[in-house]
Amino acid sequence: MAGSKLVLEGRISITSFLLGLGVIIIPLLVKFGSHVDWIFDYLTGVNGKIAIALYITVINGFLLIIYKGPLYKVAVRACFLGFVFGCGLIISFADTTWTHFGWYLCSLTFFHYSEYLVTAIINPRSLSLDSFLLNHSVEYTVAAISSWMEFIVEKLLVPELKQMNWVCFVGLIMVLCGEGLRKSAMLTAGSNFNHIVQNEKAQSHVLVTNGVYSFFRHPSYVGWFYWSIGTQIMLCNPLCLLAYTLASWRFFKERVEEEEISLIHFFGEDYIEYKKKVPTGLPFISGIRINS
Ligand code: SAH
Repeated sequence: MAGSKLVLEGRISITSFLLGLGVIIIPLLVKFGSHVDWIFDYLTGVNGKIAIALYITVINGFLLIIYKGPLYKVAVRACFLGFVFGCGLIISFADTTWTHFGWYLCSLTFFHYSEYLVTAIINPRSLSLDSFLLNHSVEYTVAAISSWMEFIVEKLLVPELKQMNWVCFVGLIMVLCGEGLRKSAMLTAGSNFNHIVQNEKAQSHVLVTNGVYSFFRHPSYVGWFYWSIGTQIMLCNPLCLLAYTLASWRFFKERVEEEEISLIHFFGEDYIEYKKKVPTGLPFISGIRINS
């Protein structure tokens, strides 16, 4: 379970994320107390853009001075995620037609930052810059860029498609539930959780079957699966919705099978019994077949 004290990298990441998020203070200061349109002006006006650019430059300079080497690398990533999260919030509350893209920016940056923070809490020994999952795989980056491109192209060609509020709301609910399930799984599994599937059993590795693991065998993958699909529903991106569903399904099918071979090797009968009682939680994925 969570250690009593958060490691230094974790604490630095929180400070840096909050410093980046601080960008939301500028519009509040600039036009505090005036009509709601202020955020719109703030975003589109040249002065607003200069203020945002200046803010992130000053904060980055500050981080460069106070943190050296590897700690700066943590700080700059967390700060960038906090900054984009803040910009997402500004867009979400602005009087524009980009509201749902603002929600998406918040969802994406919160996901990546919280992967790092929760890893720092549950399994600090495995903590590295990769824990942000920012460079997960080439496919993941291509998928993200494709979804931004689809959103922008369709927004220009068929703007009505991007204003289906209730569809976006369904996407938001899926993202929130998926995120909640994934983080509950990480917190439940504690040090048994790892972003890299383990092929050798650590001495401390125990089989987790309680909490969300009593409903699904792979709750963090279930959460991530619905989170990723939810982001595309939120953006009303039909093409990426289809592509994300197929790609995530294939990815998790392979991953679950690979992982279960090791888990059976680690825990033998105990895992086989658990597997009989509890489903994977992923649609049409039943995990590794056991011939007996
Ligand atoms: N598939 C799980 C865990 C993902 S983290 C989920 O979706 O929540 C990957 C690591 O978790 C692997 O190294 C694997 O060995 C370990 N793991 C998976 N299920 C586990 C369980 N029930 N108990 C303990 N460790 C587990």
